[in-house]
Amino acid sequence: QAMQEDIASPKRTNELLKRHGLVLKKSLGQNFLIDPNILNKIVSAAHLDDTKGALEIGPGIGALTQQLAKVAKRVVAVEIDQRLLPLLEETLAGYPHAAVVHGDVLKLDLKQLFEERFQDVDRVSVVANLPYYITTPIIMMLLEQKLPLENIVVMIQKEVAERMAAKPGGKEYGSLSIAVQYYCDPEIVTIVPHTVFIPQPNVDSAVIKLKVRQQPPVEVEDESFFFDVVHASFVQRRKTIYNNLASKFFTKETKGTLEQVLQAAGIEPSRRGETLSIEEYAVLSRHLSQALKGNG
Ligand code: SAM
Repeated sequence: QAMQEDIASPKRTNELLKRHGLVLKKSLGQNFLIDPNILNKIVSAAHLDDTKGALEIGPGIGALTQQLAKVAKRVVAVEIDQRLLPLLEETLAGYPHAAVVHGDVLKLDLKQLFEERFQDVDRVSVVANLPYYITTPIIMMLLEQKLPLENIVVMIQKEVAERMAAKPGGKEYGSLSIAVQYYCDPEIVTIVPHTVFIPQPNVDSAVIKLKVRQQPPVEVEDESFFFDVVHASFVQRRKTIYNNLASKFFTKETKGTLEQVLQAAGIEPSRRGETLSIEEYAVLSRHLSQALKGNG
């Protein structure tokens, strides 16, 4: 079958949607990319080649899928909206190594999907223009499952991208920054104006590249406790680290121990959670865990 022409233009996109009688669903985050330059930037940031696989989340009408299929060995695109399947069949005609899977990416067994679909590729990257209503759940799900990923290159809301890449000290820095940076090395590739989508979203967007780490940057014994400490430290951003940790982990009687823990970890009790580096959180959670075991 002949390869279909590229569809990333307002004219082709509108023509396709009209011919298939499709009205886009805001509730599914359906904002489709119509700018070939942005598609190029996304695809080149992922460093794909003919030995590698790409997992796309939400192919829409296939504008990004087409470009991924041109460079990757295999593309699997997961789309929740059944109405788009006939349209994708048309736009992906001539790309036999691009497959569409119908389903909700948050409910699919991705480990199984990897085993079934990506056995013949060296590395897999997630490349997507994500549905914005579930950006963070999707990224955390990908990271927490520890899928064997090389890169995650995604278009997301600009504010969320800035939070993911934030360094300690600013108001963007929080538990999302620490969670993402524990698993990945983040880099904002480019800021994207809302004019490159049909329909245009209300927010600005950014392409972020998360290079997945082979090893965490810090030594953490108990990951779930480490993330509990991080979350607790940001529950009330304006409160000190001492007060946030005291409310979560201590009673009036045991509070004295917290001062010792902070001192042993080399952290001033009057600091705020947003000033602590990921290394400091690792040291802190180690001392805190030991102290709580002692108390219990
Ligand atoms: N990739 C296309 C593009 O760049 O033009 C479309 C991107 S659009 C922002 C997001 C896509 O994700 C939509 O096609 C939407 O139907 C799909 N989607 C929304 N929720 C989903 C979910 N839970 N699982 C899989 N796909 C989903």
